[in-house]
Amino acid sequence: MKEYNAKYRNENINKIKEYKKNYFQKNKYKIKQNQEINKEKIKAQRYEKHNCNCGGKYTNNSKATHEKTTKHKKYIQTQHVQQ
Ligand SMILES: [Zn+2]
Repeated sequence: MKEYNAKYRNENINKIKEYKKNYFQKNKYKIKQNQEINKEKIKAQRYEKHNCNCGGKYTNNSKATHEKTTKHKKYIQTQHVQQ
């Protein structure tokens, strides 16, 4: 009975090892896939277009540049005057 249990346990250990290996392999692929999807999302967000209150347009990628344009600065100035 003892021998049988030991054998059973060894078989189980191998099964668990195998299972863990497979799980890791599958997950590795999933993680990589998720990373690719996230990359695309971030890229899309970066180039998403916004209408600015000044009447201009900017993407998240060019927001800082847009805020330095004369058109935008003039708008900000008029806003300050009104307030
Ligand atoms: Zn603007």
